[in-house]
Amino acid sequence: MSPSPVLVVGAGPVGLTAALALRSHGLPVTVLEAEPADRIRPGSRALFVHRESLQLLGRISPGLDRTLIENGVIWPTRRTVYRSREVFARSYSPQALRPGATPPFTSLRQIETERHLLAACRAAGVEFAWGSAVTEVATDAAGVRITTEDGTVHTAQYVIGADGARSQVRRSQRIAMTGERSEAFHVVVDIAEDPDHPLPLERVFVYEHPELGGRSVMRVPFAGGFQLDLQCKDDDRPEDWADEAAARAWVTKVVGARYADRLLWVSRYHFLHVVAEQFTDPERRVLLVGEAAHLFPPFGARGMNSGIADSVAAAEAVAQALVAPEPADRLAAVDAFAQARKAAAQFNSEAARTALAHLRPRRRLTRLKQAAGAALSPYLGSCGEWLERAPYGPRTGVAGVTAGRY
Ligand SMILES: Cc1cc2nc3c(=O)[nH]c(=O)nc-3n(C[C@H](O)[C@H](O)[C@H](O)COP(=O)(O)OP(=O)(O)OC[C@H]3O[C@@H](n4cnc5c(N)ncnc54)[C@H](O)[C@@H]3O)c2cc1C
Repeated sequence: MSPSPVLVVGAGPVGLTAALALRSHGLPVTVLEAEPADRIRPGSRALFVHRESLQLLGRISPGLDRTLIENGVIWPTRRTVYRSREVFARSYSPQALRPGATPPFTSLRQIETERHLLAACRAAGVEFAWGSAVTEVATDAAGVRITTEDGTVHTAQYVIGADGARSQVRRSQRIAMTGERSEAFHVVVDIAEDPDHPLPLERVFVYEHPELGGRSVMRVPFAGGFQLDLQCKDDDRPEDWADEAAARAWVTKVVGARYADRLLWVSRYHFLHVVAEQFTDPERRVLLVGEAAHLFPPFGARGMNSGIADSVAAAEAVAQALVAPEPADRLAAVDAFAQARKAAAQFNSEAARTALAHLRPRRRLTRLKQAAGAALSPYLGSCGEWLERAPYGPRTGVAGVTAGRY
């Protein structure tokens, strides 16, 4: 059998985007996914779909942007509280949210985003091989040979590795991840909204919540509910904060007892910022995207959003490489992808480090600056603005990596 032009490994949001982007170039595509088609994916995880991602998705799958917008929510208000004092509140102008325009973002649970991506893939003719866990990827000048757990061998000219944090595609190429993993964790809880008495549709960040022993907490709405993200201290024990009963107790302190029985999902998440040393292999046959290539803490919503940009760039590179007149042009197309997306990932990693330095200040001076900013915020709007923006890191960078500001 002749090799496929390209295969995608992993049917998470990034692999599904890669498949759609390849179809938009007219290429046939099959996605190899380890799990079965009827799997249930957990929790909200990435909620925030940034405008730039919506535009990319609308380009590769016309109408998908509108579907995500219509199925998500846009909160008109951002609010920041320091201990118990509000230091910043701003609402978007109605113009920014006018019907028909692409809004700054939409917010929906990742499982919902994936459901819409999958429907778009099916409509676009993407093929799926579910229950196909990739165990080995070998490359040579002619292409890739991919072996799955049951011994099936697939051959292709290119493979896009979108198989997540434990990527077997990356490991097969002996590509290391470099960066840092902190022992500290945060706890993410999805909560169903109380339809009779919903909370205001606003994103709220509370520095050093007085009811939570000075831990910071963020509330982010999504369609049908909201996510609470609690930052634990370095020496916190998971059982005191991340067990369901423990989560119920602190959730009650943040949003009230009526939400204690509305928990949908509780998860613990470590602070990580790591980037693959290379985004391609020496033969330029493997292209790594999404969490297979980088992991960031969720503040700034860089994970899924930058993965979407990776995938669109990878599909573009594969489409170019497949028609390249000379071998050198083929290599150059893949190299350009690898360099651009590694630079984007390094920018995001650095931005996440900046955000973490603010969120988990190691230096007393940083804490003092935050306290002084809060004290001055009634007189100096820029102080409140700084406290509002800093938890998400720098907002803009090299193309394709604009961070979301929750
Ligand atoms: C607990 C948790 C909470 C999170 N919270 C947030 C958040 O609040 N905000 C945020 O922005 N991001 C968050 N994230 C990160 C966000 O979910 C990721 O950025 C996003 O899922 C990355 O998508 P991906 O497609 O690269 O990887 P994944 O979603 O991990 O998808 C990888 C896919 O590859 C498949 N696969 C794996 N190995 C193989 C193999 N060997 N062969 C074939 N298929 C394989 C998997 O089954 C999966 O379908 C969170 C992640 C977790 C785990």
